[in-house]
Amino acid sequence: MPTDSVRPPEVDRTAASRRAIEARRARASLKRDIGTRVLAPQEVLRRAESDTRSPAGTLRVTDFLLALPAIGRGKRDRVLAEVGIAPVKRLGGLGPRQRDRLCGWLDTRFPEPEPRPGRSRLLVLAGPTAVGKGTVATRIRDTHPEIHLSVSATTRQPRPGEVDGTHYYFVDDAEFDRMIANDELLEYATVHNTHRYGTPRGPVDEALRAGRTVLLEIDLQGARQVRSAEPSATLVFLLPPSWDELVTRLVGRGTEDDEERARRLRTARVELAAQREFDFFVVNDDVAEAAEQVVELADVPA
Ligand code: 5GP
Repeated sequence: MPTDSVRPPEVDRTAASRRAIEARRARASLKRDIGTRVLAPQEVLRRAESDTRSPAGTLRVTDFLLALPAIGRGKRDRVLAEVGIAPVKRLGGLGPRQRDRLCGWLDTRFPEPEPRPGRSRLLVLAGPTAVGKGTVATRIRDTHPEIHLSVSATTRQPRPGEVDGTHYYFVDDAEFDRMIANDELLEYATVHNTHRYGTPRGPVDEALRAGRTVLLEIDLQGARQVRSAEPSATLVFLLPPSWDELVTRLVGRGTEDDEERARRLRTARVELAAQREFDFFVVNDDVAEAAEQVVELADVPA
């Protein structure tokens, strides 16, 4: 027991325990980001190395491994033995060789995307539901008139304020069928099991022929179709700043029932798992910044 002379004053102890609770919360949030793939495990290692007192730096290696998708206790213990790291270690306390070995294992199990050589003038922006793709795309349209934002066709009804030909081409099912039959759509998909959405091919081809950069803001199924139709397209995946933030954006309005909330969260997890198919990631923390980062990934003619 410390004597009164060395024991910190009550106010310091309260502040210290508050800091400890905060740190635990930050580590818990970090583990959710790792488990849902909002954050690449290699990025967590990089953060731990650059700041050993950060949530990443103070995370135990055992908790880190267990937070990874589909890693149980047995696998975790085998990996620790394989890379020669004691279970008591924290990520910030790894030696350079231990870090290299752990990184090597992560690279085989959770490969990060290879940066693609060259830039494309056809840019696809996708990401999980509620991450804010539409807002980022609108921001690009408003600040970069040199970029052509594709206007999709959809079978859903216009929302208040939406203008036909500006936000979407609002069409009925028969017209959508006709567009498919005539091969007028570069890609199309049924989104959220309800309405159909598709990218009219003509305006995209025309803008590309005119030397412009084209941006498609579409769902994952559409992004995959563009990838196979135009392998040189640049695919950008928009990430939330954290899993907790995505949950807030997804269910924050509180208008859905529990079942619907659970369904949306499951969908978001599946969508996040698709990020490996993408060329680049941009984090949507600040809309203006995210929009600029997306534009930087495109080949924009001077
Ligand atoms: P909303 O109905 O809220 O405007 O859009 C719903 C979803 O449809 C969004 O995830 C959006 O990315 C997606 N979407 C919009 N246009 C297209 C499109 O042309 N093709 C595909 N595949 N998805 C689209």
